[in-house]
Parts: sequence; structure tokens; C-alpha cells
Amino acid sequence: MNTTHSDVVILGGGMVGLALAHQLRERHPDLSIIVIEKEPELGRHSSGRNSGVLHAGIYYPPGTLKAQVCVDGARRLRAWCEEEGLPVLACGKVIAPQAPELDGQLELLLERGKANGAEVQLIDQAEFQRLVPDGRTASGRALWSPGTCVVKPKLVLQRLEQRLRERGVNFAPATRVAQVQPAARTLTLQDRSGSGHTLSYGHLFNATGLQADRVAQAFGLAERCTLLPFKGLYWQLDPRALFRFTTNLYPVPDLNVPFLGVHVTPSPDGTISLGPTAIPAWGRENYRGFEGVEPWMAAQFLGDLASQWWRNAGGFRRYAREQALHGFKPLFLRAAQALVPGLRAEHLIPSEKVGIRAQLYDRRSGTLVQDFRLEQGEGSTHVLNAISPAFTASFALADLILDQSSFASI
Ligand SMILES: Cc1cc2nc3c(=O)[nH]c(=O)nc-3n(C[C@H](O)[C@H](O)[C@H](O)COP(=O)(O)OP(=O)(O)OC[C@H]3O[C@@H](n4cnc5c(N)ncnc54)[C@H](O)[C@@H]3O)c2cc1C
Repeated sequence: MNTTHSDVVILGGGMVGLALAHQLRERHPDLSIIVIEKEPELGRHSSGRNSGVLHAGIYYPPGTLKAQVCVDGARRLRAWCEEEGLPVLACGKVIAPQAPELDGQLELLLERGKANGAEVQLIDQAEFQRLVPDGRTASGRALWSPGTCVVKPKLVLQRLEQRLRERGVNFAPATRVAQVQPAARTLTLQDRSGSGHTLSYGHLFNATGLQADRVAQAFGLAERCTLLPFKGLYWQLDPRALFRFTTNLYPVPDLNVPFLGVHVTPSPDGTISLGPTAIPAWGRENYRGFEGVEPWMAAQFLGDLASQWWRNAGGFRRYAREQALHGFKPLFLRAAQALVPGLRAEHLIPSEKVGIRAQLYDRRSGTLVQDFRLEQGEGSTHVLNAISPAFTASFALADLILDQSSFASI
């Protein structure tokens, strides 16, 4: 079998993999880098299916990896998009309590945001109504984040891929990893024609999103961890509905679970999305109907959900009550109406967009992992739980991954 060598192999051509290639190229102009992607083109999973919101850095407890990279990452990605002439909707974001008892969370989020270096302020009813005339705050107060913006995720990925190719980064789309030999630092690959090929490497980065735990396990890492796929369905606002949304409108999230709640997001192309849901998916790539269903994974997932419910881990029953059934339109509508009281079922039109979160579940502690997690192997680094805001934070996250990996020694 034919063998080639690359100094660095990046598995996964999502935003995290591409940002790693970008930052590596910045640091080491002469390294050979290859991005191996199982799909024929980029953007088939989370990075091409998300809300496109560049988050300001408000939600994350100071000291977490998310808090360390979100503000800097958002600033850098926005500047890069602007330099590239890609659409950036500088629309800001309002976070409003959807029930009066959630008002106290505004102070907590304000403190977190400020500690993380985000620009955020409390606003009163009058200011809220000026920013979101069709919205509702249950307590007469809300948070305003002027710096939040919205981009078109697929355009970002396509341009970044183009720039990386121009700078000599190699891409191997539609390529499957058939076998890994970590001790020998080699991979056996299979291309779309089915022919095999051996690739040796100096260092490997696993940025495979929804498959990252399985890939890490093939390297003997991430034991007792599994990804639990949570599906994000969206609806679109019928353009004939007479609502005016010029900014993002988010609810106060349940901070026990890593989902931000159903929100309203304007896009640079003029469409307004509502969503995403956070409902269990029955396969990591189960975007529609029975497509991608994994019966064994689904059975285990049900077991994990039941255990979370039984122990009410991290207030899990509140998630189950409030979010798990948003796949049913009337329940989704009710959640959206808490923020937009005038919304009616006929204002919602089905959206093509659907994404699945690569949520890590730690079976040792029985918890949904909230922060990004990095695992280091011999000659490899594995990025687990690259959930939101990994898209926003990607450039800064890539720097953090490079700084923390054993890569420096090659
Ligand atoms: C519904 C939804 C909304 C979101 N909204 C936002 C938002 O507004 N802002 C934000 O910052 N974040 C958001 N996120 C999170 C964000 O999309 C992710 O954090 C980010 O895209 C993760 O990027 P990634 O590169 O790790 O994963 P991915 O984009 O999933 O990329 C991984 C790639 O690896 C490939 N791959 C898998 N297995 C293999 C293998 N064995 N070999 C080779 N390739 C492989 C896959 O095909 C895929 O292309 C959202 C996520 C979802 C699901």
C-alpha cells in the first residue's frame, strides 16, 4: 500500500479543524498540513448548520475554556469576515427573562459577561421596547449586548477552505479513516473509490465534532465518555407576518444545561429564524426522519436520559419539562410566545435548517459536560464537546488547543 507523510493531520473539516489549520499555518508557514474530511464537501454537520451567531461571551463561568476564548474568538472571526467581505449583520442581541422569576439571572449573566470582557449592559422596559418592539420581557428588564453579530456559516467555511488551499494546506474530502495505529503515528485511509492508502504524521488533531469521542476512543482515550446528540430544529418567520426583528432575541437560559433556549435570529440574507430546539436525536447524524438512526446508540441514549431524569442531575427534569418536547410545533410555539407574544402558528414556516449538537456526556460523573474538553494522546490531541460557542471562538480556541497540545515538540 502506498504511504505518504504529513507533519500535521487534522481529522474533520468543520470550523474547529479549519481554524486549527489556519492558526498552524500562521505559526508554521512550512509545515505540511492535511485536513481529512469524511464528507465530499465541508459544512455537512454543525459548522454548516448553526445559527451563525458570533456570541459575545456572556454565558460562561469565568475561568472556563469557553470564557477564555469566546470574546477574543468572536472579535477575530468578525474581523476576518469583514476583511474577506463576507456578510456580517451587526445587529446585537437582547436577552430577556421569559418568566418573572428569571429576572435575578440577569445580574449573574451581567457579572459573567463583564468578567469575561464582553460588552453587556442592563436595559429597562423602554429601551427593550425600542430594540425589540414585538418582544416581551417578563420583568421589565433585559440585557443588551451591542457587539453580537450574525454571519453565514457556510460562506465562512467555504472562504476559509479557499484561503487555506491557497496557502498550501491539503484537503482530502470523502476520505474514511479505516484504521489508526497511534504508536506508529500512522492512519490507514480509504478514498471514495475504496482504494487504501497509509498516511504517517507528526501530530494528529481530532476535530471530528459528532464523531470525536469515537475517534478518541480508537486512540485509547475518552473512556466512559459518549456524545449525546441533541437536535436543533428551526422554523422561519413568514415574511408576510408583520413583525420587525432587527436584533437577536434570546431567553434567559437554564444554566444547568448547555442549551441557550429557543431564540429569534435575523440573518444577513433577511430571513428571521426561530429555534433551535434541543431535542434528543436517535443518531449522531439523524437530521430527518429515520435517516441516520443508530438503534443501539438510541437505546443507550434513552438509558442515559432516564438516569438523568431519575437523579434529576443538574436539574434535568426542568430541561425535560421545558425543552425536550419542542419538536412538537404547539410546544415550540408556546416557548417562542414567551418572548414574542403576538406569534401565531401560521407565522411559522418550516425551515430546511437542522443541526445536531455534539454534546459530551461523562458516564463517570453522570453529567452533561458544559465546557470544551481536550484530551492528549501520544502524538495526538482530541477536541471533545466542541459545542457552542466553538464556531464563534474557533480562531482563539485553535490557539488554545495548539498551546496546550504536545504538538510544540514535533
Ligand atoms: C443547532 C445548532 C446551533 C448552533 N448555533 C451556534 C451559534 O450560533 N454560534 C456558535 O458559535 N456556535 C453554534 N453552534 C455550535 C457550533 O456549530 C459548533 O460548536 C461548531 O460548528 C463545531 O465545529 P466542529 O468543527 O467541531 O464540528 P463539525 O462542524 O461537526 O465538523 C466536524 C467535521 O468532522 C467530520 N468528520 C467526522 N468524523 C470524521 C472522521 N472519522 N474522519 C474525517 N472527518 C470526520 C465531519 O464530517 C465534519 O465535517 C450551534 C450548533 C448547533 C447544532
